[in-house]
Amino acid sequence: MTTGQTVRLPSVDRILGDAACLALIAEYGRVQTLACARAVLAELRTAMLAGAVCEEGASIAAIAAQMAERLQAQSRSQLRAVFNLTGTVLHTNLGRALLPDAAVQAVVEALQWPMNLEFDLETGKRGDRDDLVEELLRELTGAEAATIVNNNAAAVLLMLNTLAQGKEVVVSRGELVEIGGAFRIPDVMTRAGAVLREVGSTNRTHLADYANGVNADTALLMKVHCSNYAITGFTKSVELDELVPLAAQHGVPTAVDLGSGTLVDLAQYGLPHETTVRETIEAGADLVTFSGDKLLGGPQCGVIVGRADLIEQIKRNPLKRALRVGKLTLAALAPVLQLYRAPDLLAERLTTLRLLTRPAAAMRAQAEQLLPQLQQVLGKSYAVTAEAMSSQIGSGALPVDQLPSFGLGVRSAPGSRLSNPLGVLEQRLRALPRPVIGRIGQDTLWLDLRCLEAAHETAFVAQLAELSA
Ligand SMILES: *Cc1c(COP(=O)(O)O)cnc(C)c1O
Repeated sequence: MTTGQTVRLPSVDRILGDAACLALIAEYGRVQTLACARAVLAELRTAMLAGAVCEEGASIAAIAAQMAERLQAQSRSQLRAVFNLTGTVLHTNLGRALLPDAAVQAVVEALQWPMNLEFDLETGKRGDRDDLVEELLRELTGAEAATIVNNNAAAVLLMLNTLAQGKEVVVSRGELVEIGGAFRIPDVMTRAGAVLREVGSTNRTHLADYANGVNADTALLMKVHCSNYAITGFTKSVELDELVPLAAQHGVPTAVDLGSGTLVDLAQYGLPHETTVRETIEAGADLVTFSGDKLLGGPQCGVIVGRADLIEQIKRNPLKRALRVGKLTLAALAPVLQLYRAPDLLAERLTTLRLLTRPAAAMRAQAEQLLPQLQQVLGKSYAVTAEAMSSQIGSGALPVDQLPSFGLGVRSAPGSRLSNPLGVLEQRLRALPRPVIGRIGQDTLWLDLRCLEAAHETAFVAQLAELSA
């Protein structure tokens, strides 16, 4: 190694004139490339003072290589595609539902073309963006009308603000839900300007409790789906069809925050039954709100369906303008809803349902096939086994139901001297070009294969070699 005094750094001009850097300029632009050259040179100067730079390290080729690496890292999106091996199909932190091809094509077109988003092609006059999916939603839910906003939290906020600002909303104490990410019924109620009138107790609420809670200030009777928890034991709740006559008697509407928007009976696909939007409308709900990216399997959005006069009122609320969805959401939602017209093909075409209904045998075969490859790259410090595990639907849908699944379990091999071996491995998996996200529990790193479809298996295997480093 030569000392700092004798190593000379090339000038910025010479670096930028080099063929490798000209290629970088062509790709990243002159401004960014120049800034990068300066940053690399500044660091080299500091390192030289410490005597930590050799002749080759200060060569134009070495500098250009460093610049290429940096510029590439810098231009990579912070939002990255990952492998979801957590076993939670609708993972909120990993973006929930994956969309079917039909939706992908529609979004690509909407990105590149002007669209009749609010333009009636028949009359040539201004249209309403909700019209693009309203007919489909009416058909699939049996409701009179529909409107779409940014997510279900927005749907609930907008509904409450429109119908109950300055008035009371009756909700059972057993249904004062908190969904992850700060959505809590009492808080949303306050922000909507409505007054929460809690009735009943945590585990038991009777019809008489609702009846006693209604007064001249009541604007709405509301039920909220206990998405992410279950109250068991000595319990009592009031079904919607019992609540509807009470509401009618007092001349107030009923609303249901259904959480997951299930549009078909999931039992026909071998999954647990979840109340559908249609069942809720048929039971007499005046308004129902639900998410687009939970069990429905579409893009992030919130749907409000129900009585035409109430939907009309909601659409006139100025908040609707602030909460409305963009064209990409509508482009994606329409083809997803179309798929529901063919329920017999749904389990094959709707990605979310296809993942939820993957046979355990398929995942087992996959696990057995992947096992030796993973074991080989992990070496002797870890022991990999193929095992049965259970996945969850996620996003608060059917929180207590587990789906039998299969995958790989990785444990620290006996005698391994690594400290926190599973934490280290979990971190190495996250550092892969396409990060792999598993979950740790019971001294095991679980890689649930439910969400690794055959189409993505090659890409998964291809990067495994990088783990052995
Ligand atoms: C998920 C959920 C919400 C929030 O929906 P987002 O689409 O995530 O905004 C609200 N209420 C219930 C009951 C839910 O399950």
